[in-house]
Amino acid sequence: MDLFSGLENLGIEGLDNLDIYGDDATKYEDGTAENLKTVKVKTPEELEAEYIFDKTYTCPVCDKSFKSKTVKSNKAKLISTDLDLRPVHQNIDIVKYDMIACPCCGYAVLNRYFAPLTSVQIRKIKDAISRNYKIKDEKKRKIYSYDEAIERGKLALLSSVIKVSKDSEKAYVCLKTAWLYRGKAEHLPETEVEEIKRCQREEEAFLAKAYDGMVSARQKELFPICGMDEMTFDYLLAALAHRLGHLDVSARLVGEIMAKPSANRRIKEKTGILKEVLKKDIQAQKQKE
Ligand SMILES: [Zn+2]
Repeated sequence: MDLFSGLENLGIEGLDNLDIYGDDATKYEDGTAENLKTVKVKTPEELEAEYIFDKTYTCPVCDKSFKSKTVKSNKAKLISTDLDLRPVHQNIDIVKYDMIACPCCGYAVLNRYFAPLTSVQIRKIKDAISRNYKIKDEKKRKIYSYDEAIERGKLALLSSVIKVSKDSEKAYVCLKTAWLYRGKAEHLPETEVEEIKRCQREEEAFLAKAYDGMVSARQKELFPICGMDEMTFDYLLAALAHRLGHLDVSARLVGEIMAKPSANRRIKEKTGILKEVLKKDIQAQKQKE
């Protein structure tokens, strides 16, 4: 259909194939389309990419330098924290960038524990991981997917076991990996029922391991543990115990935190919220019995 039919009566002809919108928006004489282009809606990936940069590390195992994607400090806006202190930020899940993994030898570590290793640890990592590790082609992507981040979490857990880290380090890697599964499940379309369930099962398994390691670290290590003071750490234990169904343990820890002089107001507030949730769950459990 010719939109311009009839104009030939006005002496205007030859418009049969004129495309009224065109595909090249920049041809506007006044530059308006050019301006519109710059405000076009960004994809979630483009938004996330604005928060990260490539940081160069030298691997403590193989000595090669490599790049790891890192979150720019203080740029991401914190929206909320889950009961177990998982941070939720606007436009980015920063937990995806918490692991540093060497693409050459397979050594990986939670960024807060990135440090030189002893010669014994290096030999152990080389024997157990590097010897069979297939060098990864770094994908030219601007962000890490959840699956990549989870893979890095598992590599970091393996490395921490092989180099015989403190229980707190292993537990913290488990906690972060559990958070990655939670993040992945939250970002899947609701229709992916089976995959969401699988992620939730994985999350629970990693949370259980995190809890075991933290209980053990609480008995053997000195504070700060995982960078947390005693009150924050006990709160985290209470939250994990609650999540894993150890309601009595959780209630005891909550009682102990509430009885302490209030040095950490944020944690006191969190404990108050956990206390309410616990109360309901304990009632529900009693009704079931
Ligand atoms: Zn390496």
